[in-house]
Amino acid sequence: MAMKEFKAESKRLLDMMINSIYTHKEIFLRELISNASDAIDKMYYKELTDDSLTFNKENHYIKVIADKEKRILKVSDTGIGMTKEELENNLGTIAKSGSLAFKKENEIKDGYDIIGQFGVGFYSAFMVSDVVTVISRAFGSDKAYKWQSRGTEGYTIEECEKDSVGTDIILKIKENTEDEKYDEYLEEYKLKSIIKKYSDFIKYPIKMNVTES
Ligand code: ADP
Ligand code: MG
Repeated sequence: MAMKEFKAESKRLLDMMINSIYTHKEIFLRELISNASDAIDKMYYKELTDDSLTFNKENHYIKVIADKEKRILKVSDTGIGMTKEELENNLGTIAKSGSLAFKKENEIKDGYDIIGQFGVGFYSAFMVSDVVTVISRAFGSDKAYKWQSRGTEGYTIEECEKDSVGTDIILKIKENTEDEKYDEYLEEYKLKSIIKKYSDFIKYPIKMNVTES
């Protein structure tokens, strides 16, 4: 499968994320949950405005699933999903929130604060992951696509199976190092406390499921 290159700016942000010594790496979960919530908002809006669709808030939720043995953390949503083109355009490009542009303009020396203050978005997943996989099926499409990247060298995209509309973000959590305990991001108590700390205001249910082995 052909490896596609990230755009230059995305590469720089990715580099920053991968090599980050930022102490609040846990905010990656806030970013993924916020994206999931935005995607459900879009779906919800479609259902409200399109008479042919049934509006049902109960059908919408975010799921956080951890598998300690496989070191997999998955954030799934019932949102609007992404087409193949959207996967390429939205995840291959720097977040529109523009944190990198901000950094450049202001010549901030302690760049790490930016991560905390501004939504740095999807790429923050690379602070805690060796591989990031996105499986998505867009509303109105019967095809699903898998986007995958290990970081700066690029990403692959291929067709895959997904039963329902929405997106799964699947993180292969890094191994612990001397300085960093990535294992925490597979622990139920830790995940719950991160969610409580940063995502308490999210208006959709956040379900959790942690498997020990
Ligand atoms: P931002 O949220 O500020 O736009 P992100 O880097 O967090 O920036 O996300 C980039 C884009 O990727 C989003 O704007 C959205 O279009 C898309 N995206 C990310 N996660 C999801 C998701 N779970 N469902 C649908 N689209 C998503
Ligand atoms: Mg975002």
